[in-house]
Amino acid sequence: SAKQAGKNRYRFYDEQMNRTQTRKMELEKDMRKALVHEEFKIVYQPKWDSRTDRLVGMEALLRWQHPRLGMISPAEFIPISEDTGLIVPITRWMIQEVCCQNKHWHDSNEMKVSISVNMSIRVFESQLLYEMVEQALNVSKLEGEHLELEITESIAMSDVANTIEQLIALRGLGVKVSLDDFGTGYSSLGSLDQLPVDTLKIDQGFIRNSDQRSKQAIISNIIAIAQNLDLDVVAEGVETQEQIQFLRSKGCSIMQGYYYGKPMSSADMSRWFEAKQLEAHVPSESI
Ligand code: C2E
Ligand code: MG
Ligand code: MG
Ligand code: MG
Repeated sequence: SAKQAGKNRYRFYDEQMNRTQTRKMELEKDMRKALVHEEFKIVYQPKWDSRTDRLVGMEALLRWQHPRLGMISPAEFIPISEDTGLIVPITRWMIQEVCCQNKHWHDSNEMKVSISVNMSIRVFESQLLYEMVEQALNVSKLEGEHLELEITESIAMSDVANTIEQLIALRGLGVKVSLDDFGTGYSSLGSLDQLPVDTLKIDQGFIRNSDQRSKQAIISNIIAIAQNLDLDVVAEGVETQEQIQFLRSKGCSIMQGYYYGKPMSSADMSRWFEAKQLEAHVPSESI
């Protein structure tokens, strides 16, 4: 009967919700040990200048290799870590690791670029970010300009005055700031000229649909805004030659996306870069 079907549907939703809830609680519990058990891994994704054919930066992204559940996406565990506050020690660890890895790449003359780390609003609220960054730079001996923080518009706009204050202090350490997923959050357009940022990152949603006229209009305007405010601009989620051609025709040459490289371990990143350099040095006649 219809009534029975309705009942079953409710039961289905209940079970579904229960399973989601149980998994969430399980992850929450396991996350407390994940840092000490060294289950978090960092992967690096290249930012490539398609005009000069050079590596210009990397983004560090977090992975959780869970002993029983396998690889868990940051899209799932970052929100949980924000609820529990664990995002603060996780970010502290992350910044420290990234600075040490980058210092190693610099000293070994392998790659000399800046690496960005994603910031959660909770980290800004903790008021501990300055101290974390200062400590990581001291311990690693990395120069501040080789560390970059990626913030979203929603962080920037949640408590504008306080965010600006923290960002100004951080930039005093030489650190760079970029505005991630630009164009998707609460609009920060009105305060963009007040925000101490160096780079706009065009959200991958626009790039994915850049065959649409409306998305093309948005992308061109983001690039124009960046140029007018003297900011750098990076396109995220670049996967095709067509996207690259369009972006370059509008004046954006720095790309991050699967077309150039997926996020990879530090060892794979070294190998990837080595291969890229060999490629660049092969005379074109012999290809
Ligand atoms: P995000 O900062 O916007 O990072 C870009 C995401 O797009 C990454 O997903 C990356 O793997 C993916 N991506 C890059 N190129 C392409 C492409 O060509 N095609 C497609 N389809 N995807 C591409 P990931 O690593 O799963 O991270 C998702 C989000 O999780 C990040 O978005 C960021 O908001 C958050 N996140 C990751 N690591 C951290 C972290 O250490 N701290 C904080 N607070 N958030 C993090
Ligand atoms: Mg990011
Ligand atoms: Mg992004
Ligand atoms: Mg994103």
